[in-house]
Amino acid sequence: MDNRRAVIDAEKCDRSPWCPVKRVCPANAVEREDDNDPYFVNAYCQGCGKCVQYCPRRAVSMV
Ligand code: SF4
Repeated sequence: MDNRRAVIDAEKCDRSPWCPVKRVCPANAVEREDDNDPYFVNAYCQGCGKCVQYCPRRAVSMV
């Protein structure tokens, strides 16, 4: 596994309760503080890159 991590652009995140990015993450690294908040990637991210292609708003990038 490389050292990259996923980052979610809070401006682009539509805050959907059915967020596919959250669902596909094998590390359960996508979360948010509250129901109306945008999602963010926590320290459990393994950098697999799987989530990037699942965001319909292209809010996820690898850094
Ligand atoms: S890069 Fe992989 S581990 Fe990190 S948030 Fe995306 S799906 Fe989860």
